[in-house]
Amino acid sequence: MENNQLNHATYHPLDSVEEVEEFYQAIKREKLTHKLSVNRPYCYWTIETYDKSNGIRGGGGLGVLAADMRRVAEQLQVPFVLVTPFYPWESHQKMQNMEQVDYHEERHYYDFGFNYVDKVQIKTATSGVELDVVEKQLGSSRFLCITEPNFGELYSGESGSDHRLYQEVALGFGGYQALKKVGLRPAVIQLNEVATFFAAVARLDELVSSGMDFYEAVVYTRKHTLYTNHTLVQAAEATFSYSQFEQYVFPNIKSVAVRRWLSDKFTDGYIRLSTPTVEIAELRSGVSKLHARVANYRDINGAKIKFKSVTNGIHLRTWILPEIMDYYHEHGILNRFDLPAARGFEEAVDKITADDIRRLKQLGRRRLNDILHHRTDQYGNPIHIPEDAFLFDFKRRFVDYKRPTLPFNDPDRLAKILLDNNAHYILAGRVHMGDSNMFTKLMNVLHLIDGHSVLRERVHYLPDYDEELGLGLSLGANSSINTPIVGLEACGTSWMKDIANMGLLISTHDGGVADMPSDNYLTIDGKTEEQETESLYKQMVVATKTWSNDADLEYWIHKELKAYLDICSGSRMMRDYLNYLF
Ligand SMILES: *Cc1c(COP(=O)(O)O)cnc(C)c1O
Repeated sequence: MENNQLNHATYHPLDSVEEVEEFYQAIKREKLTHKLSVNRPYCYWTIETYDKSNGIRGGGGLGVLAADMRRVAEQLQVPFVLVTPFYPWESHQKMQNMEQVDYHEERHYYDFGFNYVDKVQIKTATSGVELDVVEKQLGSSRFLCITEPNFGELYSGESGSDHRLYQEVALGFGGYQALKKVGLRPAVIQLNEVATFFAAVARLDELVSSGMDFYEAVVYTRKHTLYTNHTLVQAAEATFSYSQFEQYVFPNIKSVAVRRWLSDKFTDGYIRLSTPTVEIAELRSGVSKLHARVANYRDINGAKIKFKSVTNGIHLRTWILPEIMDYYHEHGILNRFDLPAARGFEEAVDKITADDIRRLKQLGRRRLNDILHHRTDQYGNPIHIPEDAFLFDFKRRFVDYKRPTLPFNDPDRLAKILLDNNAHYILAGRVHMGDSNMFTKLMNVLHLIDGHSVLRERVHYLPDYDEELGLGLSLGANSSINTPIVGLEACGTSWMKDIANMGLLISTHDGGVADMPSDNYLTIDGKTEEQETESLYKQMVVATKTWSNDADLEYWIHKELKAYLDICSGSRMMRDYLNYLF
């Protein structure tokens, strides 16, 4: 962890208030500072945050996005509050005798620089729960967290369970009370997925119970609430029963009208939170162009919901090798807001030489090896990737649609590619607890690797995938592999880390990758999985050949950066959100 730049990311805040004004101006002609202020901040609600250096570990992309939103806000001096649980426990995985085992670690907020503020109360039908409010200020941004010893882990219990509902209620109602405790009024509330829905209910309830007409309060809440959807299929969402609401939700609502409004959203005794969420949020966004177009959500009358697309971005200074970041700034590729330079961006990218790329990636490889030194592979050994070896990586949550096992469909073919090109392959991932299907698939691949003399030498599985591995692999791999079944990835951000660090992306045309035409990276195509596997192997060979040919290397890196650096930029994402919100 010592080498993890995430732990001591230092921001270079804008030099003066004038510069912040200029950024806001760049977003919109009028000055946003009238709408957003220290006491009326942008409030971002999320059940998941992925920021290990601040003691909060997430599960995947949803949490990385939340952490990056806050980092971008801090860098750009946007008044911003991230409302999220501080989980007292977090889960990890390790390999033992070729079996993956889960273990749990305790976390204390005071070990991560959080200060205790006060307590808030959440009611249930029969009793109450007291939660601590803790906060941590970082520049113009802050974490505002609720926590208590029995809060549990992120995503503990089944979705739709009482405990999940309790966590969501505590985050919504408790988080809203916490905001009041620290004297803040939200300028806007962004709901990062429906697990945060109760924040909007808390606001509505406050307005109504303090005397505002119910319909006026709905209009007001709607205008200032943005719901960001990350899921494609509404039917996949968990449901809660009316009796669960009687137990956990209704006791926290003061207004009879609000309770009645919510009761009307049940069908046959069950509710999906997206149904009332789309009513209480006039602003709704999806996380890539494709996702906003295909997300199939209906309101209670069956009408299709429209989503505005705001493609996810990443906080570039967190995820890019510092030397590459300096290079982008010095060569006029990124401006000081970390947006592509308004003038001369493409010309500047076209001047990046193959020598520069190889030199910078070599530095990245060293950083990766520093990280790998204190991590272990499936046999419990640290690994080291030789500087002259080509490195492919696949780093993702292990869920079916991402197809982590696709490259192993023809083991001999994969082995030949690796052997012929002096290449290694790192597979890093995390199986969701309780996903026995994926767990079996992973074990089968590990046994397959173990039984193959070439794969055993050249394929390394790294358990307990986290930000540190995500970062390290983006810095040190030459080419990354992204194989979601087309139509199922909402956006994905790992591929952004790879492109921004001058890696060659091999991907299906899906998620945020599909924001741009498919001739901008090494595309996997095909109508069947067999054809896609064939296409993947071909592109893996192309990637290794590209790396040893100056003109080809420059061609592909220039193409990727010109097409995607703007999309990757978290500042671009913040600008798009501010534009949509105000
Ligand atoms: C970047 C990152 C993600 C995002 O993953 P996608 O599969 O691209 O959505 C998830 N987990 C970790 C640890 C990451 O660093």
